[in-house]
Amino acid sequence: MAPVVYSFIFPVNLLYMAAMATRTNEFKVRFWGVRGSYPTASAATRAIGGDTSCVEVNVAGRRLIFDAGTGIIALGKAIGRRAAAAADSYIFLSHTHIDHLMGLFFYEPLLSAGTRSFIYGPGRSASALRQTLRQLSHSNLFPISLDEFKGKSAIHSLRGGETLRFGAPGKPPTIGKSTAARPSVNRQLIVESHKSPAHPRDGVMLYRVSYAGKTLVYATDVEQQPGGYADVIEFARGADLLIHDAQYLHGEYHSKTKSKQGWGHSTVEMAVEAAAKAEVKQLVLYHHEPQHDDPAMKRIEKLSKKLFANSMIAYQGLELKL
Ligand SMILES: [Zn+2]
Ligand SMILES: [Zn+2]
Repeated sequence: MAPVVYSFIFPVNLLYMAAMATRTNEFKVRFWGVRGSYPTASAATRAIGGDTSCVEVNVAGRRLIFDAGTGIIALGKAIGRRAAAAADSYIFLSHTHIDHLMGLFFYEPLLSAGTRSFIYGPGRSASALRQTLRQLSHSNLFPISLDEFKGKSAIHSLRGGETLRFGAPGKPPTIGKSTAARPSVNRQLIVESHKSPAHPRDGVMLYRVSYAGKTLVYATDVEQQPGGYADVIEFARGADLLIHDAQYLHGEYHSKTKSKQGWGHSTVEMAVEAAAKAEVKQLVLYHHEPQHDDPAMKRIEKLSKKLFANSMIAYQGLELKL
């Protein structure tokens, strides 16, 4: 794996570092967008929220963001209002399907000078992810090109199997190959990537964040198979929190006329089975079907809790501490 060359030098903000030093024990998760496929806005979906995939994790003084669906837009605005907000964002894309990218070019830090965004996501070559994002900002599709954004950005393709280790504040993580043994859990913030074939057509990247003995696994857009995908289950093993795709109900997935089989998403039962097999402590159902209104989501949560006691559905604004 070729090292990334970051073509910029950033002034170290001492005040920010001091503020972060007092908060390094934090491991906080916030859901900014929980829908899959497309955003939805109606009175009937207000409680759960209608924005597409985006989860913010504030950990060890870093802001990690998983996916850039429309949920990232409100996150960007919130960052502007926060006192001593970190200037750096580390954005991890599960894949480049549009519901996971729709909000990226409206993410305010990317538009503002004096910020840095490090974007990671699947790509077969070092420049593949940059090329995809550049295509998305092509003049046929968007008025501003990727190179015109005022914030600095470094885009790096991952193949899966990398371990990103965060060191000194203000420095991007080093990227190494994962070892067969899982990195020992210590005070270092680590993000592991895993490319799973569980989503058509190019697979999906899963991420495992570890810090100070706690672990979160982000596994969206995963269609489990009967008995569960062994690689997904192994990657999620023992996590304190598993965020897992559960877009469909059993009846929708197995419908005789409109079956969702092969569409790349799990049912509640499939997510629960994977969580149980991986022996995770808590399961959060995610990437909700936009057609499921609030009452339907309530029924889904009830079903999920019956099958896996420490489970819940993600909703916009949900905050969890690890
Ligand atoms: Zn999706
Ligand atoms: Zn997808």
